[in-house]
Amino acid sequence: MAIKINDIPPEGMTIDVLDKADLFQEGAKTASFQATVKIKPEGSGLFHISGTLTATAVLECSRCLKEFDFAVKDAVMDFDLAPERLLEAPGEHELGRGELDMEFYKGDEIEPADVVREQVLLALPMVPVHASDCKGLCPVCGVDRNEKKCTCTQEAMESPESPFAVLKKIIKPEKE
Ligand SMILES: [Zn+2]
Ligand SMILES: [Zn+2]
Repeated sequence: MAIKINDIPPEGMTIDVLDKADLFQEGAKTASFQATVKIKPEGSGLFHISGTLTATAVLECSRCLKEFDFAVKDAVMDFDLAPERLLEAPGEHELGRGELDMEFYKGDEIEPADVVREQVLLALPMVPVHASDCKGLCPVCGVDRNEKKCTCTQEAMESPESPFAVLKKIIKPEKE
C-alpha cells in the first residue's frame, strides 16, 4: 500500500505495516514483519523515518546449511528517506549526514513495506548460524555433524595432506 507523498501531513503520519517480503530470492517471501513506521516530512522531498520493527526471517545456516528462523525484535528505525532522483543527479545535492543512514523512494510514492524490508536486511547477521555451537558439515564426507558423528576429523588430522601434519614435520624434524 503505497502512500502518495502529497498526502503526508506536515506533522507526519504513523502507519502499521504487517507484510511478508522476499529477502534474497524473488518470490520466496522468506521474511514476515510487523512495523510501526512514522513518516515525517523534512522539506525538499526528504522524509524522516522512525519506528520499530519486529520480524522473522528464514535464513540458511552458514555452517550446516539448515534453514532456521531468525527473529528481529523491536529493532529501532531511524533514518532519512530521499527521492531517488537525488541519486541520478549527483552534485546537485549534499547528503551531509552520510548516505548510510539514508534510503530512497521512487517517484511520488513511498512504499512502507519496501522501506521496512531494507531495514530487515540490515538487521540480519552477515554470517548466520542456526546455533552458536553449530558443528557444521564435515568437510570430508559432508555429514551434518550436529546429527551424526563421523570419523573423518581424526583421520583428516593425521593424514599426510593435513595442514597439521605438515606443521608437525616443520616443528620437530630434528628431534627425530
Ligand atoms: Zn547450523
Ligand atoms: Zn566426515
